[in-house]
Amino acid sequence: MESLTLGPGVLDEIVEHAKSSYPMESCGLLVGQGGYAARLLPMENCLASKSEYEMDPGQLIRALRALRESGEELAAIYHSHPSSPAEPSKRDIARALYPDSAYLIVSLAEPLQPQVRAFRIAGGQADEIELHVIV
Ligand SMILES: [Zn+2]
Repeated sequence: MESLTLGPGVLDEIVEHAKSSYPMESCGLLVGQGGYAARLLPMENCLASKSEYEMDPGQLIRALRALRESGEELAAIYHSHPSSPAEPSKRDIARALYPDSAYLIVSLAEPLQPQVRAFRIAGGQADEIELHVIV
């Protein structure tokens, strides 16, 4: 999967989640099939931090189990950067545990123009991938 496609409305919901969590980072899962994200599953950032995130482990395990049962796939993991650019931090790279998943970052550094980028993070390296948005 060298690209990530967001289905209708998904980007708006990611941005809304980021804004409602501000100034803390928001995070969650994008689920669908292959590189297509049909919907998001917002997760609790159990660090409640302005500069890092960790999805609530219990919530994450339940969500991944539900996906296995529904036949949906994890397309991407998203989180927000309330005041820094849409680039993976050192910690984002060090703690990227899902090499098969894309990582989407939304930046609110310019509140009126949220920036969104997608990456593949594996082996201590982040590579940007194409991001398509279906409106
Ligand atoms: Zn980050």
